[in-house]
Amino acid sequence: MNKPNNGTVRNWINGVWTDHAGPTIDVINPATGQVVTSQPDSSAEQVDSAVSAARSAFSSWRTVNPSVRAQHLHAIADQVALRIDELATAVTIEMGKPLDEARGEARKLVAALHFYAEEATRLRGSIVPNADDGFSSLVEYEPIGVVAAIAPWNYPLELIGWKLGAGLAAGCTMVIKPSEYSPGSGLLLAECVAATELPAGVVNMITGAGQTGQALTQHGDIDKIAFTGSGATGAAIARGVAKATSLSMELGGSCPLIVTETADLTEAVRGTLRRAFRNAGQICISINRGYVHTDVYDDYLAALAEGATRLVVADGLQTPNADVGPVVNQEIFDRTTAHIADAVQRGARVIAGGGPISDLAPGLFLQPTVLADTDQDMLIMHEETFGPVIGIARYTDLDEAISQANSTSAGLAAYGFCRDLGQTFTLSKQLDFGNVAINNVDAGIINAPYGGRKGSGFGVEHGREAIDGYLHVKHTRIRH
Ligand code: NAD
Repeated sequence: MNKPNNGTVRNWINGVWTDHAGPTIDVINPATGQVVTSQPDSSAEQVDSAVSAARSAFSSWRTVNPSVRAQHLHAIADQVALRIDELATAVTIEMGKPLDEARGEARKLVAALHFYAEEATRLRGSIVPNADDGFSSLVEYEPIGVVAAIAPWNYPLELIGWKLGAGLAAGCTMVIKPSEYSPGSGLLLAECVAATELPAGVVNMITGAGQTGQALTQHGDIDKIAFTGSGATGAAIARGVAKATSLSMELGGSCPLIVTETADLTEAVRGTLRRAFRNAGQICISINRGYVHTDVYDDYLAALAEGATRLVVADGLQTPNADVGPVVNQEIFDRTTAHIADAVQRGARVIAGGGPISDLAPGLFLQPTVLADTDQDMLIMHEETFGPVIGIARYTDLDEAISQANSTSAGLAAYGFCRDLGQTFTLSKQLDFGNVAINNVDAGIINAPYGGRKGSGFGVEHGREAIDGYLHVKHTRIRH
């Protein structure tokens, strides 16, 4: 097997690492500004050969016994487990998260692949009663077909791996496009797949930016598009599909937090620090905006500002105790500083951080920033920033706080901290989000369905339910 990551990333199509003579796209380490590798800017013809490979593999893969598909998934998970450090290093170099966090992502991917392998063995159908004697209705679930899986860079292993796990468990074949910011880690994952006995063409991976993604999603022989990324790209994909195609859209959001007067403040502050600044705030379920009851507002803010100031911001490859790395690109760097400036100009107080760390330039490092006394008109309180910044507003009435939390188009994740059972149920029932976490900040876990609503998309990843998105139902009515 020739290796993809020998300086230049290659496509993996029909079980072969393909040479590429056309244009390429550089990948830049956001901590240093240095070019680390380059990738094929794949053409529509290359997309077509990957889709053809997936189509021809589908005819036999769809009939493979689910327990055998499970063995393949366990084997892929085992290969990933052997290469945790290598995968994590590639992630850190390409998108900047601290190495230990990247190792955690790779380990969670191993667990996710084993989870989907187990779920593959539990697929089932049913026989439903008929009103007429002498008939039986058989209800079966079959793999939907060839899947185009398109991923962003912020969890470059998991966001590919969840689709791969659920898709293969269902019996689908895949053409995967990693983000142009993280192709090397994506193709290392393809190497893990290539090291197993999985038949050629069941999984294919091609690199490139938006044009490649567009050629893939508009290809006429795709049965499902599994997309994770921004709302703008998701809308463009939905507008451009070539034929009736199953879609799942995991999009962005602006995730709120409500801290009531009954909250354990130590836990609330610990949770906020983790979910606002982890991955430099570049998580679709990052806490972007907080609503804190007036009785605990000052204490909460003081502890949050102190905690944010103590976070170690550094190159996650060189600094073992780094908490926060750089943001991935200039666009996010500029948007974050613009959102901070907008809030300050409209009257918010900066109580921690406030902007770029010029000593670490050209690395794209920003201080973890806490803005107090924000209001809903500020960009930080209703648009997705995707950087290490949080805005906090004071509230007196819980219904009003919930209404502000629900007031944006976002519907992915919301958080609450409170020790009152009534408040817990009020938050759980009234927050209009696909994922709500109370007294913890892990809104997405592999065992339970995870998906957005409103402008944050539709369809789910995680849980048994994720596999349903890769299946379609067949009813056979039999007269006997
Ligand atoms: P993005 O939309 O810019 O890119 C995502 C992927 O789409 C990339 O692979 C890109 O090359 C591809 N793409 C771009 N234009 C395309 C087109 N016209 N057709 C097809 N594919 C195209 O998003 P990003 O900057 O990589 O990721 C950040 C966004 O992802 C944030 O909004 C974040 O909230 C969201 N996100 C959501 C979840 C979730 O689970 N809901 C998880 C992670 C990230």
